[in-house]
Amino acid sequence: MITVAVCGAAGKMGREVVTTVCGADDTRLVAAIDKFSTGVDVGEIAGCGACGVPITLDLTAALSDNRPHVMVDFSVPSAVKANALTALSMGIRLVIGTTGLSERDLRELDEAARAKSTAVFVAPNFAIGAVLMMEFAERAARYMPNVEIIELHHEQKVDSPSGTAMLTAQRIGAARRQAGVAADPLPTEQKLNAAGARGACEEATGQVPVHSVRLPGFVAHQEVIFGGPGQILTIRHDSINRASFMPGVLLAVRKVVDLPAGLTVGLDAIM
Ligand code: NAP
Repeated sequence: MITVAVCGAAGKMGREVVTTVCGADDTRLVAAIDKFSTGVDVGEIAGCGACGVPITLDLTAALSDNRPHVMVDFSVPSAVKANALTALSMGIRLVIGTTGLSERDLRELDEAARAKSTAVFVAPNFAIGAVLMMEFAERAARYMPNVEIIELHHEQKVDSPSGTAMLTAQRIGAARRQAGVAADPLPTEQKLNAAGARGACEEATGQVPVHSVRLPGFVAHQEVIFGGPGQILTIRHDSINRASFMPGVLLAVRKVVDLPAGLTVGLDAIM
């Protein structure tokens, strides 16, 4: 039985994780951390029925009192690094879905995990279809190097571009370099009417323009559009609801228990 703490437990993803952990045969929820609804039974907040775990804001006490095997973090970009370092300092294994961690943050988490001989697993996207989208995009980029990404998310998502878009762009950039191909340079006379109109296109995005849409009605969606002479290839993935992420989260909770010390990134590394 794997004991689990959920950080960000009252959030949209956190509630889904609570329901999943309470519903699986081999996992048991032992702690729920959030700023919202403290003192309330997290099962009631999640809608899966009372489970005897009240929500608390005191992460350190929740972890030291319950000593979970794994902590799952779906909190907010501004809190995830501090939460993670607290858990790692106690030698607790971590599964992180919260986006917004920089390369530097990831290096820091890697070092903190190694120092305590524990493991941290980070996935920008827990949906299996999104992992396949990235693999297919990498393959296509070798033959069709002109590519842009449009990612579309609900209006409450605070970070942009999304972690999935950044990772897809980086992987496309690396695949193009490996294949010795590059995107055509833009015509110098091309006129931009607003700064950023071509989307983010920097080292961090593998020099692949990324466009972010934030609107009510969306959950998590991404299109990778490849253009070539007389043809267009579009690879699109849609997460229709948050349940799409749960098989990936559960897989990560089960695998992180045996992962080597340090950082592992991406669902494909454990599939
Ligand atoms: P959300 O509904 O805003 O949930 C975040 C929750 O964390 C809120 O209840 C928030 O409380 C709470 N929180 C804030 N500060 C905290 C702290 N210091 N300690 C513990 N909890 C804290 O957001 P969401 O839609 O669930 O998404 C959460 C994160 O997961 C985002 O970064 C999102 O991009 C990411 N995400 C990742 C994937 C993936 O597959 N990797 C999929 C979906 C979402 P307050 O509202 O009171 O601040």
